[in-house]
Amino acid sequence: MAVFDHIPMGEEGLKEIYQWLDDWVEKNKNVARQEVIGKSPEHWDIPAVFITNENVPNDDKQIAVITLGRHGQEVGTRVVGPEIIRHLCSGDAEEIRKTQIVIVVPVVNPEGFVLNKFQSSMTSLTKTERFVLGKLLMEFPPDMMIDFHSLGKSAGSKYDQGDMEVIIPANTTRWAMDEQIHEYVAREMRKSAESAGWPYEIHTLEDLAPYYFGDTKMGNMPWSSLKEKVFLLHMQDFYDHYHIPEEDRYTNYTCGPAYLKWHTLVFGMETNHYALSRAGDIALSGLVPCASLLKMGSTRLPWEKDKGYPVNILQGDFRISVRPLGQNASERRASRIRIWNERKNFNLPQREMIDHETTIARVRYFGRDLPMEFALCLRMRQKDIKSVTTRGNEVQFETFKDPCSTYVYIPTIMEKAGVIEIIIKHPYP
Ligand SMILES: [Zn+2]
Repeated sequence: MAVFDHIPMGEEGLKEIYQWLDDWVEKNKNVARQEVIGKSPEHWDIPAVFITNENVPNDDKQIAVITLGRHGQEVGTRVVGPEIIRHLCSGDAEEIRKTQIVIVVPVVNPEGFVLNKFQSSMTSLTKTERFVLGKLLMEFPPDMMIDFHSLGKSAGSKYDQGDMEVIIPANTTRWAMDEQIHEYVAREMRKSAESAGWPYEIHTLEDLAPYYFGDTKMGNMPWSSLKEKVFLLHMQDFYDHYHIPEEDRYTNYTCGPAYLKWHTLVFGMETNHYALSRAGDIALSGLVPCASLLKMGSTRLPWEKDKGYPVNILQGDFRISVRPLGQNASERRASRIRIWNERKNFNLPQREMIDHETTIARVRYFGRDLPMEFALCLRMRQKDIKSVTTRGNEVQFETFKDPCSTYVYIPTIMEKAGVIEIIIKHPYP
């Protein structure tokens, strides 16, 4: 049984949801707290619910942010937020609460909700979003952020008329395998949704243009995949940092700028309030892929050293990469954000197997944020790593495994800009 068996509408509906939040948080105050993170232009509260296990230090936790309802007429999202909050407070989410702070903003756009109108912007974050979400996210820079929308019979989609639910790993890039990583996670989400009976699609960046903007009558939209990708990347504003109160470019999802700013794992979601005629079905179909994503944030993915969202390959690929340093989630997040913002000052790391017992790895950093501290991480066929040296000195390293290989994780400091060369010795297997 879902939390809501109907879709709350109008001012009464908004009050109904806010009342539910108050009551729910009061009943679950051992794991949940509520905060008004800002006001809408018409002075409605914009509440956020924080769910975590307060007995575990926050420094050891991932930060996950879930936003819903930025487009006022996308009524399906209204019942998904409470459903996610209910799940997060349940016994099923114990591990998530231990390892993550999850922040849910159930109604980003209260005016749109009350008026049942879009009341937003297709081409930028709204001023309210910049200030309200901006303030929240500066304090809690997310490791993962997902933004829920909902499609109706025709609103929101030009090509699909009424029957699509979709996971959109869209506001990412191909930098450092990010597109593959987002796709990997999206497929896991789809698999969970499908096994619960909800047929979801995955649509990537190139698909978004025809789905959202490809109105054949307008005749002025790009159509080839490559053109669409280029078009959308241009429309996403690299300088949209949530806090600049000016109008600018394309942002359909609240999470897009978080990828550019903090290397956050970002997803857009579209549930469907037309094809699913029962409110409870919309709520559950929205919950399942989200619950699967949250669960992944408490596990270690094969190429990651630690548990958490897969956001730590900052330059390079799975075979050789630049990664953050840190003893806990909070230190690694700070290191990740620092390196990510310097990513263009690293060259593509190189590796060379000079004989069957020796691999040389090199990376050049030519930025000014010195001393630059990072880890170089190599995926090795060889199971045993004998030694790691640089300029004749032994270097401490760690290893971790995936099902078929060993990763060598080598912490490094560069005091000045230049090239660092690392020699890895491994017996022939
Ligand atoms: Zn929308």
